[in-house]
Amino acid sequence: AAKEAGRDAICFFDPAMEETANHKSQVLSEMRKSISDNEFVLHYQPQLDLITGKLIGFEALVRWQHPKRGLITPIHFISIAEESGLIIPLGIWVLEQACFEAKKWPSDLYVAVNVSYIQIERTDFLAEVKSVLHNTQLPPHRLEIEITESVLMTDQTPAFQFLMGLKEMGVKIALDDFGTGFSSLSYLQNLPLDKIKIDQSFINLSDTDDKTCAIIRSITQLADALELETIAEGIEREGQYKLLSDLGVKSGQGYLYARPMQVDDLPFFIESKRKLP
Ligand code: C2E
Ligand code: MG
Ligand code: MG
Ligand code: MG
Repeated sequence: AAKEAGRDAICFFDPAMEETANHKSQVLSEMRKSISDNEFVLHYQPQLDLITGKLIGFEALVRWQHPKRGLITPIHFISIAEESGLIIPLGIWVLEQACFEAKKWPSDLYVAVNVSYIQIERTDFLAEVKSVLHNTQLPPHRLEIEITESVLMTDQTPAFQFLMGLKEMGVKIALDDFGTGFSSLSYLQNLPLDKIKIDQSFINLSDTDDKTCAIIRSITQLADALELETIAEGIEREGQYKLLSDLGVKSGQGYLYARPMQVDDLPFFIESKRKLP
């Protein structure tokens, strides 16, 4: 049976197959059921202050705990969820879970939640945020919403209103995967952003490529000038950490510190971080 499941999994993930209509509709029908069957889980990846080494928060990252195929990462289902609109109920579930969980943590830790442009365009996600914060009693400043540049590229109005609404409530906003989208920098001055997340493709090359390093330096200077915080994602090596902290990047996350972890591992991790000098 294990062998069978294994073969299934390979078929399910065959990159050549993933773009086919047949595959998509199979994933979609399974995903519809999985939302009601509660097959999604959140893993949490620590974010640290690069200067002090202190834990500052966690990013919530969704996974699909498939009964037969095991743990499935978001690259295999997020775009299908977006195309089908399933991202809407899934996204609400993610937000609720993440806020509910964060409420149990020490009060100086925040939770970062990824939000897709579909959620902003097609629903009143601001009202959703309001109601979830109310129901979980999580203080707004302990929630950070991560959006990508794609949110800003589509029809500007709903995105702008959404972000202004978050700002008014005191929810933090981070611009994810920064540097990979269309680089119209003008929106950086018009939008109520708090933080820029430098994309991991830059971090990955930071310790070996001088040009990449120059890009990170200028992103950091830009962020400083605009009074935005910076975070580096995908830090894997000590050398990258050294470089980033020398360049003045404020915070970071990556396998060097911890992989995204199950919710059961959080109390121990948080506790172990508290014990540091
Ligand atoms: P992201 O928001 O840019 O998240 C960072 C991704 O990098 C995560 O992948 C994380 O596990 C991975 N990562 C963290 N540290 C390292 C590292 O040191 N090295 C490498 N190579 N990778 C690292 P993951 O969890 O597979 O998520 C992929 C993407 O799926 C996320 O990218 C995000 O765009 C999307 N996603 C995840 N959860 C949600 C969600 O709840 N809602 C929405 N709309 N999108 C989500
Ligand atoms: Mg993210
Ligand atoms: Mg990112
Ligand atoms: Mg990324």
